[in-house]
Amino acid sequence: MWDPDVTRYGMVIDIDKCTGCGACSAACMSENNIGVLPDETDKVRSITWMRIYQIDNGKPFPHTEIAFIPRPCQHCEGSGGHHTPCVSVCPATATDFDEETGIVSQIPTRCIGCRYCVAACPYHARYFNWYDVPWPEGTERALNPWVSPRMRGVVEKCTFCYHRYQHARNKALMDGTEVGEKDYQTACAQACPSGAITFGQLNNPDHKVYHLIRSPYAFRLLERLGTNPKVYYLSRREWVRKRADHYLPGEEPGKLKAARGWIAAGHE
Ligand code: SF4
Repeated sequence: MWDPDVTRYGMVIDIDKCTGCGACSAACMSENNIGVLPDETDKVRSITWMRIYQIDNGKPFPHTEIAFIPRPCQHCEGSGGHHTPCVSVCPATATDFDEETGIVSQIPTRCIGCRYCVAACPYHARYFNWYDVPWPEGTERALNPWVSPRMRGVVEKCTFCYHRYQHARNKALMDGTEVGEKDYQTACAQACPSGAITFGQLNNPDHKVYHLIRSPYAFRLLERLGTNPKVYYLSRREWVRKRADHYLPGEEPGKLKAARGWIAAGHE
């Protein structure tokens, strides 16, 4: 589990509550000034920091079940012997691991567009800007002034709405208090109509996520890679947990845990 002495922000997504409505994705685009590209039929080049995947149990009708998996950046842990894949390959320090919060940042103005991070990210959470976004005249007045729109040729991704953290931290400093659970929330967590997304400090018992990640139904994507994501998922359906964790045919969860034995003690 997470070290109680360092702040670690994370997210818990309850897949059994998610209806796949896309409100989180729309809220994310609005909050972070993600534009609509000239050719949105080219899904390989479209940008969605919060992408929603649909999976099914592989059974024919009438036994078919489906589930939706919203997938932001997983904010892989980069301290305590861990390794954040995108950060370790960036030659321009355009992406970095914030020791203060555990959030993996992205600084578009430093990015040289080499896309090593896109190749390194096992979660496909990074997007390259193939176009300058053609904001129709007048729509620039609806942009969020706290988030810079990105230019063609750079990579971008979910930042857990880091600008909101900066505001909350500054206010807390002025007031002489701590950043509370309600002071810093991501746009997707606020927009979800079914309450499937919970955000907060993973190692603070006053935050809901601290308790949710201790559920026996909690899991993370591709845990075997040892990236130690800070996005957790919940599902009571076994087939969802297996499909979402991407077990290969014949693999046993027990074997996967053994394969993760190198993960630093005290973080698991
Ligand atoms: Fe980097 Fe991808 Fe991990 Fe996000 S999910 S921290 S982009 S490797």
